[in-house]
Amino acid sequence: MKENVCLPRLSIGCLGGTVSMQRQLPGHGVTPRLGCNELLADLPHLGSLAQLRASTLCLLPSASLTFPIMLEVLAWARGEVAQGAHAVVLTQGTDTLEESAYFLHLLWPFETPLVMTGAMRDADQPGNDGPGNLLAAVQVALADESRGRGVQVVLNDQIHAATRVRKTASLAMAAFESPGAGPEGVVVEGKAIYRRPAVARKVLQQPQRREHRVALLEACLDADSTLLQAIPALGYEGLVVAGFGAGHVSIAWAQALARIAQDMPVIMATRTGSGPTARASYGFEGGEIDLQSKGVHMAGDLCPRKCRMLLWLLIGLDNQSALPGWLPH
Ligand code: ASP
Repeated sequence: MKENVCLPRLSIGCLGGTVSMQRQLPGHGVTPRLGCNELLADLPHLGSLAQLRASTLCLLPSASLTFPIMLEVLAWARGEVAQGAHAVVLTQGTDTLEESAYFLHLLWPFETPLVMTGAMRDADQPGNDGPGNLLAAVQVALADESRGRGVQVVLNDQIHAATRVRKTASLAMAAFESPGAGPEGVVVEGKAIYRRPAVARKVLQQPQRREHRVALLEACLDADSTLLQAIPALGYEGLVVAGFGAGHVSIAWAQALARIAQDMPVIMATRTGSGPTARASYGFEGGEIDLQSKGVHMAGDLCPRKCRMLLWLLIGLDNQSALPGWLPH
């Protein structure tokens, strides 16, 4: 097909995930097999929307993506923009999409839309959602209204902000939500319709250090503190706790956290899946007032997994002291 040079340039990078998965042999499970050109083969009319550049960046289940891989993906996407891309779309597995989207969002320095998508049904399944999600992601990425919004996640005809989106169902088609806020917008008849205007956002520099580690632990009823106490000696440089309710832990955990917070930044988030942590309500030991007095930072409504992305990037810049300014109230 002859390229129409009047069309905007759009780069698509594919990383694997269910959207790219097929069964190699009957009776076996699906694995990532389809590269970017094969994904696009299902959508021949995309060529009438944009001049496409397709790149298979890796073919992994998203559980095996890493920070170094995501930094390479970022370098690739930046390179595409430098070469004139009007928008960038990434496909990946949905399992870690809420994390990788926020990671890239914190580092994406352009007004250029970066839209991420995936699929809940593999390419062999009837009614698979991969092609439809990819088409919707391209339509959102090409919309002028999508500029200046950082990274967005498009699935099931909904547009989610990277800061809020979470996978909240393991196998359902409607697996993504933005708890407490709802989606930023929807895709209707191929058009991106936003409920909210773009908001000003801060961007981080790329981390200078990349070998450090940040732990994430979840508080649970009658949990002992053995793992928690081991964190500093194991070489972690930061800790996120998915706490009870509004950001609470047991007395034993509060005492352990007081010691750990002297050595490294500690963020207390909520394990509930929705809503902010408190700041000034509960006065018991292990409650948020006590934890803050012990040097623990409250996460606001940033989910524990996204807190870990943020903290890893800040530590990589040796800029932990900026953490309070990055946590929502
Ligand atoms: N089930 C996942 C997906 O939806 C697998 C993965 O995240 O790679 O893509």
